[in-house]
Amino acid sequence: MEFNQTPTACPKCGSQELGRGKQNGYAVMSPVSKVRFGSAVEYLLCTDCGYIIESYVKNPEKFKGTL
Ligand SMILES: [Zn+2]
Repeated sequence: MEFNQTPTACPKCGSQELGRGKQNGYAVMSPVSKVRFGSAVEYLLCTDCGYIIESYVKNPEKFKGTL
């Protein structure tokens, strides 16, 4: 089984012009019970139509135990 599930084309418009974006600073996602910590969010998005294909939290381990 290959560990290569990164999309190479936009599922909405079919464009292969994808890019990576990052959300940092004010707009970080924070664990609900640990508001002092935040984690940047990274996106894989289509640079033609703007559709966000995937989003990742950079430090998912920070969110353990918050549910
Ligand atoms: Zn697109």
